[in-house]
Amino acid sequence: MILLILGWTIYLILIFFVLVFLIYSLFEKERRACLRSGLILLILTGIYSVIFTFFPEVKSCFFAGILTMSVVVVFWIAVSSKPRDKIKITGKQKKVDERDTIFARFDLENKSEKYKKYYSEHKEYIAIDEEIRKLNDILDPHFIKKDPVLFSLADAEFNFCEKQLLGVDGNEPAIRFERLPEENTRIVKNTINYLGSDICGICKLDQAYVYSHVGRGPETYGSKIECRHKYAIVFGIEMRADMINCAPQAPVIVESAKQYVEVAKISIICASLIRRLGYPARAHISESNYQVIATPLAWKAGLGEIGRMGILITKKYGPRIRLGVITTDLPLIPDEPAVFGVQDFCKKCRKCAENCPSKAIPSGEKLEENGVLKWVIKREECYRYWRKVGTDCARCIMVCPYSKPNNLLHNIIRNIIRGSSAAQTISVKGDDFFYGRYPKKKQPLHPGLNQ
Ligand code: SF4
Ligand code: SF4
Repeated sequence: MILLILGWTIYLILIFFVLVFLIYSLFEKERRACLRSGLILLILTGIYSVIFTFFPEVKSCFFAGILTMSVVVVFWIAVSSKPRDKIKITGKQKKVDERDTIFARFDLENKSEKYKKYYSEHKEYIAIDEEIRKLNDILDPHFIKKDPVLFSLADAEFNFCEKQLLGVDGNEPAIRFERLPEENTRIVKNTINYLGSDICGICKLDQAYVYSHVGRGPETYGSKIECRHKYAIVFGIEMRADMINCAPQAPVIVESAKQYVEVAKISIICASLIRRLGYPARAHISESNYQVIATPLAWKAGLGEIGRMGILITKKYGPRIRLGVITTDLPLIPDEPAVFGVQDFCKKCRKCAENCPSKAIPSGEKLEENGVLKWVIKREECYRYWRKVGTDCARCIMVCPYSKPNNLLHNIIRNIIRGSSAAQTISVKGDDFFYGRYPKKKQPLHPGLNQ
């Protein structure tokens, strides 16, 4: 009798869970997930009604079967290995020269002296860069004509960031307000949070993640970068799921640029606050002002892990964030890198690799690059696609299972998959089943922005 009640209770919990999933899917406007969960709900309630109405004698067998299946699944999840793989530093990491980054190369004015000098020293990039240069530039008039409101809005947002470039650094006054590192850490994190960030962490500034030479921005091209601050404060702002779900169309670049503006605002104000407290601090913002590489610093500061698509995956928002960095000498307490199963999950999932329109994301094993074992992205292929569509694409961010909205349902799943390899396998299959292996792009343009 007890076993019968247990089996019956589990069945009702299952029905309740599917109902909750359906309601969430309705709010998230996930059509396929709504249809599939609705169908499962119908089947489960149908079986329940038929058994109670027409075959009461098979009740015991049926619920005993449900109980056995549940025990097997729970046991499998509980005893399967805990995902433990970590990001591995395999050797000495050399500093990256900002002049070699994609954006610095494409900032070079065609056939100018700088251009000729750079490509005479880097012949390996000539062929591919010349091919890409034939395509229209991101946000150029060709794209603006196609969607004047959204592309112009993104352009205006980037332009706003560009105007902030000179405010990133300054002198600190002679007076210094000294506090314990614990107090400074609390003040900095609370301030950044108050200013609008969603996540924040601190790490020691590893010189391997400081660019060696200036490649972009107002400082002299080719000059040596001397950023010797002790700490990096790294924070992230969530990008709206409904905008990213339009990838690779115009809303994604509007959203990226909007969050770059927010990141710039927070970084500049916070760096200025730290200088007013008597310590040097510099904000590193978009539109060519970074002296440091944000993604590995964010990993070191405990904000997330670097996934197959090569960008940071956070616990609450997955890759759907924009990062900001402030470097400083203010005494602070560093955080530890986070490990929550992303490396193992990415080995099973591969969804970004299969959906990447330019095949820039590898679907195979990690390789060693500059002293790190990682999935190496074909950056030129990714950028080539950006210039084809006129946006920063974000298809990989859109399809990533970790990008689901930060709500109770998805957070429960996120928490279960960080502790069990079997739960990760089920989750990958479930994500494909409910959302599709190749999800369709959506058209929910921001109210008032559609034409
Ligand atoms: S942004 Fe687009 S092209 Fe680039 S890696 Fe992601 S899916 Fe591929
Ligand atoms: S889509 Fe899958 S494989 Fe790609 S980063 Fe996200 S979890 Fe990893």
